[in-house]
Amino acid sequence: MTNKKFYKIIDTLGILLLITAIALITYSHINSEKKEESSLHQLAKEMISSDAVLELQNAKYNKGDIEFFEVKTAHGELDGYIFSSEYFAADIIGYNNRILLLIYTAPDGIHKDFRILEHNETPEYLDEVIKKREIFLGQNLFKLTPSDKLEMVTGATISSNAMSQILRKSGNLFSAHILKNKVIEAPQKGSSATSIPVIIFSVMLILAIAVRFKITATIRYIFLILTVIILGIVYNIQFSSDQIISLISLQIPAIYTTAFLLTVVMPILILIFGNFYCGSLCPVGAVQELIALIRPKKLIPRSPSQMTIKILSTFKYLTLFSLIIGIMLFHYTPILNIDIIRSAFAGLWNNYFILVMLPSVILSLFFKRFWCRIFCPTGAFLSILNYVKLARKILPFIKPGKCDKGVSRQNELDCISCDYCRFENTPFRKPTPKSEKPKLTLSDYFMITATCYLIVVLVIFSV
Ligand code: SF4
Repeated sequence: MTNKKFYKIIDTLGILLLITAIALITYSHINSEKKEESSLHQLAKEMISSDAVLELQNAKYNKGDIEFFEVKTAHGELDGYIFSSEYFAADIIGYNNRILLLIYTAPDGIHKDFRILEHNETPEYLDEVIKKREIFLGQNLFKLTPSDKLEMVTGATISSNAMSQILRKSGNLFSAHILKNKVIEAPQKGSSATSIPVIIFSVMLILAIAVRFKITATIRYIFLILTVIILGIVYNIQFSSDQIISLISLQIPAIYTTAFLLTVVMPILILIFGNFYCGSLCPVGAVQELIALIRPKKLIPRSPSQMTIKILSTFKYLTLFSLIIGIMLFHYTPILNIDIIRSAFAGLWNNYFILVMLPSVILSLFFKRFWCRIFCPTGAFLSILNYVKLARKILPFIKPGKCDKGVSRQNELDCISCDYCRFENTPFRKPTPKSEKPKLTLSDYFMITATCYLIVVLVIFSV
């Protein structure tokens, strides 16, 4: 079998794995729809004492019917209300999309407890909010005024701010319209994102496509530095497995947010212009590529062979497959840890992150973009979108003969539009004489060993 055929088979397998994952998820969704109704009652029961009783009530709100629970003591006295924020505050969005809460208050509005019914937040951020749930409790949700600010959870301010607003607005409207109490304040509309990050990310999206037509090494490295500083350090705007899960589960973020740009606009642009995100806009990829610039060439004169890179790079499709199946079918959120992009610039550095991210950054000195090439599930997903590349006829021609990332054909999925092969000074790879059997070099063995190490860490921390 020729190398080209082999590479094509690997690309096709990647696409098939994604299609299989989506088919399995669709099947599981169809089967799970019926469970949702009973879970609402179940969650309400979790919040009340064992001898309390839930009584389902109906009311009119906004020309529609709504349901809520009255909580009664064993003696039949009213002990509180449990209602969903879906009727009152579904327009308030968190980091990615709306958050729906099941809210439990005393008859006078004192907030007793809540459960999250639906969210699309980054789990680590939401965990931070849940850990400090007591800051939301004890407030009178029926009587809060605009000056009665609820506390924020630092490190997760967008999710925390959204939840505070949801509680306040739902409490106000439930009190005014369902219990017919006096209206305390006009409901406030929430927003997850200031316009500045949205504008900045939109500009960078356009620039990343545009600069490819006039690219030089200097322009590229300046762009990568800006990506690290602006999208990484300052705003932490990154496409990660969170956006993949949102897309596959069709949870589309609210419009005019960076989450919407990442989840909807950016993948559409990739379908048109190819995978320029990995090459130019991913801060984790940019860090690795910039580190590779200080590679000691004399100490490490050769890169691994194209074949070695290509074979090892199939792992990223497996990490993507495991992640999608783990989350969507088994709701096993620890598997999200596989994707280090999620925590790199959020400051959520756990043991796994340190054992994977630090070696990956160091390994970038030896193999450019080691993590991106071999393991990144996000990279795998965007590579698959790369297959479409509708505007391929007008895009600059790449020179795979100069590629140092394992790409050997014009339309190979793994091309990240980094344009390294288009720089004048980039040398062509030395072709292996056909008569000569391909040999594994020290570099190949090193890359294989490093990959084995990361596989072990990945497996230990994700099961
Ligand atoms: S083929 Fe060129 S543009 Fe594509 S990944 Fe390789 S070096 Fe970058």
